[in-house]
Amino acid sequence: MPITRQICADLDSQDALAPARALFDLPEGLIYLDGNSLGALPNAVSRRVAAVVREQWGRDLIRSWNAHNWISLPERVGARIAGIVGAEPGSVVAADSTSVNLFKLAAAALRLQAPRRVVLTEQGDFPTDVYILQGLTEFMGAGVELRVVERDRLAEALTDDVALLLLSHVHYKTAAAHPMALLCARARAVGALTLWDLSHSAGVLDVRLERDGADFAVGCGYKYINGGPGAPAFLYVAPRLQEVFRSPLSGWMGHARPFGFEGDYQPAPGVLRGLCGTPPVLSLAALDEALGVFEGLSMSDLERKARALGDLFIALVEQCCPDMALASPRQADARGGHVSLAHAEGYPVMQALIAAGVIGDFRAPETLRFGFSPLYVRYVDVWDAVARLAAILRRERWREPRFHIPAVVT
Ligand SMILES: *Cc1c(COP(=O)(O)O)cnc(C)c1O
Repeated sequence: MPITRQICADLDSQDALAPARALFDLPEGLIYLDGNSLGALPNAVSRRVAAVVREQWGRDLIRSWNAHNWISLPERVGARIAGIVGAEPGSVVAADSTSVNLFKLAAAALRLQAPRRVVLTEQGDFPTDVYILQGLTEFMGAGVELRVVERDRLAEALTDDVALLLLSHVHYKTAAAHPMALLCARARAVGALTLWDLSHSAGVLDVRLERDGADFAVGCGYKYINGGPGAPAFLYVAPRLQEVFRSPLSGWMGHARPFGFEGDYQPAPGVLRGLCGTPPVLSLAALDEALGVFEGLSMSDLERKARALGDLFIALVEQCCPDMALASPRQADARGGHVSLAHAEGYPVMQALIAAGVIGDFRAPETLRFGFSPLYVRYVDVWDAVARLAAILRRERWREPRFHIPAVVT
């Protein structure tokens, strides 16, 4: 029996998460399926940022560091993030970018693991992770050996010379999710540490860093967490490692007494030593407010809905778009919050779809990505999006020359 729009409308009316959509400012008529790249704007963020700019910065000026507690924002925002990634209290700070945090944690892990020097990672993972490791390898000379293997060879490549296993929890292109607990246990058994990049899972999956035994993690603030373009990222250090962990970017904000202005670096207690320089207050205020949306919600409900939306999308694509190949795991519990399709003309197809009011994105050479943020995507949105996609394919609208002009950001 075909899936009708009415069936989708009924799913929305039974959805306990449906009211969360009202917390976002979404343009009328637009279907936004790119929350895995840039989360939508929570309406409270506009008010908060305006207030921080006008009232705090404008009126209270430098007194705000104390009066409005700007100085503890990295820690307070980190505590909220800890709540959505299953981390122990006091084990997360918000700071810098995911790339910079990767550098800090990978370098720190290698220092702890000497004389082991092998970093094991997955072939075809998000490029910045490998680029950072390549930079670290050049910088440390003989101190690092990068071992990049195919996904299905990771478990056997976890040998007892591996210092660090670095993985994206959910693959940016395929949405395939690694079994975190299993890989952490295997790594521990051979004496390797783990560093998880949660960019595509934080804020959408029921991540359990503590339960699953992760050692280190980083992640993005601007994807499913909705912290805004270029929002601060976060880093996690398991409590058992916090007192031995040393950041190579030993800036004053990670000092035990930043305002002691002492001659020598002494790391702050706990995860705060992961900080480097002055926190970006406006961006942290936006991220802090965005995290308010998650309050009172259960991450397992979010995970379930994101995967249900993905299942619906896959079923509808199979029902209406015979030219499209699925480029993500079919089984929901092996996926993150997005679903990818493959099509030889993926770029112009996505441009035509965007022109038709459905925003997803494209990853070269042929991947069309569709993100299903469970906070604001409705079941009917999925139905409408696939109907428009099917029409574009059927009428070959993607052939129009305007859809073939390359953009800088895809
Ligand atoms: C989005 C993403 C990043 C982003 O890193 P930035 O430093 O914020 O640019 C890193 N890793 C993965 C896996 C990502 O998906």
